[in-house]
Amino acid sequence: MDQHTDRRDDGAARAGATLTIDLDAVRANYRLLRARGAASTGAACGAVLKADAYGLGMDKVAAALAREGCRSFFVAHLDEGIRLRRLVPGDCTIYVMHGAMPGTARDCVEHDLTPVLNDPGQVAEWRALARELGRELPAALQVDTGMSRMGLAAADLDRLRQDPAWLDGIAPRLLMSHLACADEPAHPLNARQRRRFEEVRALFPGVPASLANSSGVFLGGAWHFDLLRPGCALYGINPQPGHANPLAQAVSLAARVVQLRTVAAGDIVGYGARYVAPGERRIATIAIGYADGWLRALTGRSQAFVDGVAVPFAGTVSMDSITLDVTGIPEDRIAPGRTVDLLCPQQTVDDVALQAGTIGYEVLTRLGGRFARRYLGLPAQE
Ligand SMILES: *Cc1c(COP(=O)(O)O)cnc(C)c1O
Repeated sequence: MDQHTDRRDDGAARAGATLTIDLDAVRANYRLLRARGAASTGAACGAVLKADAYGLGMDKVAAALAREGCRSFFVAHLDEGIRLRRLVPGDCTIYVMHGAMPGTARDCVEHDLTPVLNDPGQVAEWRALARELGRELPAALQVDTGMSRMGLAAADLDRLRQDPAWLDGIAPRLLMSHLACADEPAHPLNARQRRRFEEVRALFPGVPASLANSSGVFLGGAWHFDLLRPGCALYGINPQPGHANPLAQAVSLAARVVQLRTVAAGDIVGYGARYVAPGERRIATIAIGYADGWLRALTGRSQAFVDGVAVPFAGTVSMDSITLDVTGIPEDRIAPGRTVDLLCPQQTVDDVALQAGTIGYEVLTRLGGRFARRYLGLPAQE
């Protein structure tokens, strides 16, 4: 470690836990996904950066992916788009998937953001703004192909067939839809949504099309169209549950020991007295809890690792701390200030999600704001 790194204060010495984000892994994942599209339909590969790049940090992730050649970015909210605009080169397209809330369409123009138009109201507002400004405005059009969450409905498209002026002043740059069950390859809805998307596509000749999220990429080339739209796979979540994960883990998390104690048989540990020591036990209290996104639902169901050795949670997960049974760990390997691993090669984001009864997306996006953050793979400073 050079002196510069040594002296830099990233807060790790004071923080209860350190989250390490591996940008090289994110970039490798991007290349793997991009290669899938290139090999099938020649689809380009975009990146979904909503929710602060699923908790990894939009600033750093956006810069890393732009360096890798990514030119299409997707966020959910307008404010996310405004923030992202300053982080990526001017030739990148930023799609705002929720579109603009009523009265805010001008902000899209001002910040060079491309709204995704999801319903007739958003279409009307964008059309009116184009008329007012006297020029065509680019937009993506989302169509609903069976998920009933967002996008133009069949009735809206019928209207468009009857009245092509409905899109006057709007330059469609992308036609998109979203898959409801892409992580279940055998689900019949996948083929149904694809067919429906093909039908709608015939209404927009020459407009690039995008259907596949991360799991959609792995459904096969028939779902790829012109632009892939992965989020979770970039960040290491397995897009094919039940199969080996081809993607690299992008985050690791280590929490520090605050206190160690020995309890006797019958002693209780934690809220609700839910853990009663079955014998003499060594208990380590670590400085992370549900306020940091380490869900209370993990009580009694998860573990940490000390030098690769599993140590089970003992007692209810608290807001700021978790108690571990470290009885099996030699005393010289654990002490206040030392760290235990929560996300590591032995325990992935998907593993933790399964323990908590949720999905990796929720585990990542809940990771809290109190961690020290370290980024691997940052460009060398000039
Ligand atoms: C979040 C989202 C994505 C990315 O989905 P992943 O499953 O994370 O790859 C793509 N498209 C839309 C519309 C989304 O909301």
